[in-house]
Amino acid sequence: MNREWLEKDFYKELGIASSATQDEVKKAYRKLARDLHPDKNPGDAKAEERFKAVSEAHAVLSDPEKRKEYDEARRLFASGGFGRGGFSPGGGYGQPGGFSGEFNLGDIFGGATTTAGDGGLGDILGGLFNRGGTRTSSRPRRGSDVETETTLGFREAAQGVTVPLRMTSPAACTTCHGSGAKPGTSPRVCPHCNGSGVISRNQGAFGFSEPCDDCRGTGSIIDDPCTDCRGTGIQNRTRTITVRIPPGVRDGQRIRLAGQGEAGLRGAPPGDLFVTVHVSQDKVFGCNGDDLTLVLPVSYSELVLGTTVLVPTLDGRVGVKVPPGTADGRTLRVRGRGVPKRGGGGAGDLLVTVKVAIPQKLDDNATETLRRYAEAEKESGFDPRAGWAGA
Ligand SMILES: [Zn+2]
Ligand SMILES: [Zn+2]
Repeated sequence: MNREWLEKDFYKELGIASSATQDEVKKAYRKLARDLHPDKNPGDAKAEERFKAVSEAHAVLSDPEKRKEYDEARRLFASGGFGRGGFSPGGGYGQPGGFSGEFNLGDIFGGATTTAGDGGLGDILGGLFNRGGTRTSSRPRRGSDVETETTLGFREAAQGVTVPLRMTSPAACTTCHGSGAKPGTSPRVCPHCNGSGVISRNQGAFGFSEPCDDCRGTGSIIDDPCTDCRGTGIQNRTRTITVRIPPGVRDGQRIRLAGQGEAGLRGAPPGDLFVTVHVSQDKVFGCNGDDLTLVLPVSYSELVLGTTVLVPTLDGRVGVKVPPGTADGRTLRVRGRGVPKRGGGGAGDLLVTVKVAIPQKLDDNATETLRRYAEAEKESGFDPRAGWAGA
């Protein structure tokens, strides 16, 4: 038995009295789940914690069978019925001694096969209701994390975008709401193992435990399996969820969306969704950290005489001053007009690199003027190869 679990007050978690009706349990949970939902509180670790705690409380209290067991266990716990090191699965609730000390709780309760891995609800419920199960598919456990990917345009990624993602993944069966039992019925506690999922035997000084055959280690028996999910409580469903990708996401980055993964089994909370984002190249912009880069075509005369050019940014255009005598290939910096920084806090810079464009064809007038200019340039003393190592 998990002490931590027993010390939790699920009624307090939902803000209801221990005498609350099933309807009141449902109502309290709905309201809290709405307020605390990760979608509503992005990045709020506290809300997420609470959301998990509330889901956990609901998973237990909404199921009359589980609620009864929980009430019973807590009553016994309060009256000192449990030993410190756990209880002996075969020895009854009232025997804190026995061989309980020899067991690793994780072994008894099948913790090694729990995929939740965060010590959360899956572990806890797995411990209480379906101890030692070999059938991991039917014990309450946190839903698996789901991986998916999406490709965004460069500007979408830089500015943030809301995208629909289509996913096929297991979700709680809509017919039985994940219980695995035909609507109108509910799973009952396995009488053979008293819901522990484990049968214990003593052989000499050693205690052994093995999964209960009657319930296949799940601790509960479904007399009337839901026909839509064949008693598993899960169905494959294609769903489209709308995902808000924050601004400043980089190519190859993985974004975590709490609670958007696979549904949990039998009322356990869902897993997380991880979206790997691919960012396609842009025709104009490049990216260097938080800095936005672009190459600005200019004419020779613009570099020599100086000019101001309107260049695009992620947010409208900005005038970039090219000073007289700017060298080809020079990079000009426009502060704060780059890519928005992750998690707020302004943006990087816009880096404009000038690149001279050479006309392939000029009309007679321009050609003649350029010839005259070339002579004037020579007379003025300009030598492009002055100081050049190859001269
Ligand atoms: Zn079902
Ligand atoms: Zn059993």
